Amino acid sequence: MGRLLILIAIVIAVVWLVRRALAGGRKGDVAHKPPVDGELVSCARCGVHLPRAEARLQGERLYCSEEHARLGPGGG
Ligand SMILES: [Zn+2]
Repeated sequence: MGRLLILIAIVIAVVWLVRRALAGGRKGDVAHKPPVDGELVSCARCGVHLPRAEARLQGERLYCSEEHARLGPGGG
């Protein structure tokens, strides 16, 4: 009976080591994501953040609304 327990313990240890080695080899894959349309941009007028798909493009700048696009970039 003692031998069987040792054998089971060895099998569990080997499985654990293999799973750990496989998991360790995949580090860093999550960090690389391509840019998506849901990317956040900031309004050139008021600085609020919004999805790029909802932003208004005026010239080379992005704005949160038609009004801010009309007003243009401003410090105040
Ligand atoms: Zn704005």
